[in-house]
Amino acid sequence: VFGESIAIWHSKITKKKKEAIIQGLLSGKIQLIAGARSALFLPFSHLGLIIVDEEHDDSYKSDQKPRLNVKDLSIYMAKQHKIQLILGSATPSISSFHKIPYIRVAKSFFQTSKTITFYDSQTVLSIDIRNKIKRTLEEKKQVIIFLPTRANFKYQVCSSCGKSVECPYCSVSMSLHKNALALKCHYCGYAQQIPQLCPSCKTGIIQNFRIGTAQVEEELKILFPSKNIVRFDRDSITTNTKLKEVLNDFNNEKIDILVGTQMLSKGHDYHNVTLAVVLGIDSVLNMNSYKSREKALSLLIQIAGRSGRKGFGEVIVQTKNKEFFEHYLVHSDYEDFLKDELPFREDLYPPFYKMAKIVFAHTNGIKAQEEMNKYVNILKDLEKIEMVGF
Ligand SMILES: [Zn+2]
Ligand SMILES: [Zn+2]
Repeated sequence: VFGESIAIWHSKITKKKKEAIIQGLLSGKIQLIAGARSALFLPFSHLGLIIVDEEHDDSYKSDQKPRLNVKDLSIYMAKQHKIQLILGSATPSISSFHKIPYIRVAKSFFQTSKTITFYDSQTVLSIDIRNKIKRTLEEKKQVIIFLPTRANFKYQVCSSCGKSVECPYCSVSMSLHKNALALKCHYCGYAQQIPQLCPSCKTGIIQNFRIGTAQVEEELKILFPSKNIVRFDRDSITTNTKLKEVLNDFNNEKIDILVGTQMLSKGHDYHNVTLAVVLGIDSVLNMNSYKSREKALSLLIQIAGRSGRKGFGEVIVQTKNKEFFEHYLVHSDYEDFLKDELPFREDLYPPFYKMAKIVFAHTNGIKAQEEMNKYVNILKDLEKIEMVGF
């Protein structure tokens, strides 16, 4: 549409190309840049519009040097220089929703046009799901399996109702303490024994669950020994060549099942897939963070939404929290979720309060501890700051 006046900017383009783009910008030949985070720092002379697409994505915030949040910086620049700004997302972050006047574009939010089935199960792959996969493969169709994490992730929830044990002070899930006998809140440090009975339903017991791509791949290989099953995450897909190779094989139907993280949902086309299975979403819903509900729901919507666009027939979600997910996916929508979630944040968490994380690191743990104590002593005298953790 824009022809010569557009350029693509990211860290992997050659130095020569970069110079050409900068020249093009300075001379006015290039008028539109589509780029990664660093594109914001190009020498624009009269920038009129910034679009931050998929604004809910955490990768706008860099955890490495230089530490910055390109989304926040875009908002700042837009304000300072009176530039128009659009934050785009099907699942806008709760902070943006709260802070920025928004216009809801028609149909921009997720709409259920496909079948979503919820299954509850004790095991990683329930019998219902195994049967669905089996039938799909028998019909010579392909299956995609999504997991929220590649690591072999351990989390503690009730075996009956799927709820986790929450910190009484912080209202976030507690996670297993080092000694594995207690649960600890990693915000305030409160610890307690693992309760005999689940505090929510009073009938189930709190159990350890594990989930990860490698483990699921292994289980599938045992269940379907004659099928070609391939893992798709940052551990197994290390280069761009490898990525293209696997996607090619999958689209040429040399692979029957792809098991992967959210990496799977980012902009690829899968034309012969009729079944998408989402496993382990409960581990996100119960992670020890105030953002857990927002993360879990937006992740599920992103996966399910993308699946639909590519024409997957059916999406199966394995969860013990059907009520929560079904409510916002089927009976209401993400906007309702954001409105419901804000009151929970109001007393303690962003966007109402600002949070900062200070990390002390040293090869010698005692040195780090000493240094941290020094800062704790200084900071605790400041009335406007509440400190947790340490
Ligand atoms: Zn329970
Ligand atoms: Zn706490």
